[in-house]
Amino acid sequence: MRLSTYFLPTLKENPADAAMASHRLMVRAGLIRPLAAGIYSWLPVGWRVMKKVMQIIREEMDAIGAQEFQLPALNPVEIWQETGRVEAFGDTLFHIKNRPLVLAPTHEEIFTTIAKDNIKSYRDLPQIWYQIQTKFRNEPRPRSGVIRGRQFFMKDSYSFDRSFEELDKSYGLHREAYKKIYTRSGLKFFIVGASSGAMGGTGSQEFMVESPDGEDTCAVCDSCGYAANLEVASSRVKPVGRLEASNPVEEIHTPNIKTIDQLAEFLKISTERLAKSLVYKADDSAVLVLMSGNDQLNEAKLTAALGKNAKAMEPAELAAFTGANAGSIGPVGLKNFRIIADRRLEEANELISGANKDDFHVAHIDFSRDVKIDGYFDLRTIEAGEQCPNCGHALRIVNAIEIGHIFKLGTKYSVSLHANYLDEAGAEKPVVMGSYGIGVERIIACHIEQNHDESGIKWGVSIAPFDVHLASVNMDNEDVVAAAEKLFTELTEAGIEVLYDDRRGVSPGFKFKDADLLGMPVQVIVGERNLKQGNIELKIRRTGERKVVPGAQVLDEIRNLLRN
Ligand code: ATP
Ligand code: MG
Repeated sequence: MRLSTYFLPTLKENPADAAMASHRLMVRAGLIRPLAAGIYSWLPVGWRVMKKVMQIIREEMDAIGAQEFQLPALNPVEIWQETGRVEAFGDTLFHIKNRPLVLAPTHEEIFTTIAKDNIKSYRDLPQIWYQIQTKFRNEPRPRSGVIRGRQFFMKDSYSFDRSFEELDKSYGLHREAYKKIYTRSGLKFFIVGASSGAMGGTGSQEFMVESPDGEDTCAVCDSCGYAANLEVASSRVKPVGRLEASNPVEEIHTPNIKTIDQLAEFLKISTERLAKSLVYKADDSAVLVLMSGNDQLNEAKLTAALGKNAKAMEPAELAAFTGANAGSIGPVGLKNFRIIADRRLEEANELISGANKDDFHVAHIDFSRDVKIDGYFDLRTIEAGEQCPNCGHALRIVNAIEIGHIFKLGTKYSVSLHANYLDEAGAEKPVVMGSYGIGVERIIACHIEQNHDESGIKWGVSIAPFDVHLASVNMDNEDVVAAAEKLFTELTEAGIEVLYDDRRGVSPGFKFKDADLLGMPVQVIVGERNLKQGNIELKIRRTGERKVVPGAQVLDEIRNLLRN
């Protein structure tokens, strides 16, 4: 490709709104241009990268026997109502104004409908179906460039099996395929246990790239390899347990006490026996959540425990419900609430909590005597340094970007959409499903996050837009131009992808800056001085290493460099 005619607008200045390196560099190196918040156009050089990533994905999906589809992004809203996901997605789902249609944020509903209409018997199973397609999500805070877009490409696939054992097999195939896809895309990544969210399911894992800018937080054990999203991570924490003394409940006056620490100080006790009350609303019912002391509630764990999304109750609504302010709520004598508690408080006694009237608490609460707890769940957010649940080693907490998610759905969608099959004995059974997603843009952005410096991108060969950046330093020198043209033809004929900077009237310094910004793995510099000795200069972008090689050896040398 000749840069003189190629549409590749590079920018010297960073875009003002870009906090992440990948965002800045993708705009500056002419891969993308913003159109609106979370919406980007892909320019030719960016689209080349996109196609290479998609090719890697296709090859690895095809290798596990998956078959490529292309479904419509425009979906009748009724199908989404049938599975309850109009509510589950809430504001994230884009609705069309003048028709009962939505823009699909994912495709479980549509693929399951195809399975329902076309899969009849056990002989039709198993199946793995996939597509690489545009998804739409009305993300509340689209930031970080293409990492969180309102329109983005997802590879989504769906497995259909006869049994949960066979689902395990399809899931395993995906897990291995994903490892290959990310490895071939040049990413350092790790895999974590993940939350299945409000939609149930029987297990899921996420593929993560560590990054200080990541919006996910994960616990990692460097000793045994345990890794989990904080939404499901657990640690070895001591239960609060029972004390020997077991006194009757007693109301105590606690004037002007606002925080757990103030209360502990006032009562001269440790914070862990203070059962902190948090009030949530799920659908229209009120839920009281009890946590020990300063333990932080994890809302994803709460969603999983309730099987639906919950929202913290607003202070005004809370006062109307209970007649007290947030700091005074407690489980004793509380009516019209479902009460659940963190597992640390299981069967604990001698607890203190709010009295449901301002400035009073109740002491000596025994959860097995004074309160009807609907269930104990793991609800707390673990903290750095707590012990790994498997081996006891101190856990590290890292920020990460989710680049993929594999999910054992089970029969959730096949049951709600009636996707059944007849087994060997002629009995009707729901198909057992899995779903699996890859964020295509996130692969590209994370690749840049892991491979760049001050001057620009350092592409790995597998997804670089071009293998070689060829620059002729002086377009006014006939010998230089002739040598560069000859190299361009030779390399191209050898199957090497070359971006050839043949621009006139552009200074060598400017050309070198662009070459570093654009970041092709190998730079080939044709300059007067080296050419006089019959030599060409090569620069390896990743290491900065330079080599001067005789013209006749350039092709072999480049082949070598690209191979390694
Ligand atoms: P997140 O938690 O980051 O919002 P998610 O869990 O909602 O993502 P999934 O429904 O699991 O996302 O979608 C599968 C994959 O699609 C994700 O692992 C991620 O790589 C990618 N993805 C999701 N949302 C976006 C987005 N708004 N922009 C770009 N890629 C996305
Ligand atoms: Mg996910």
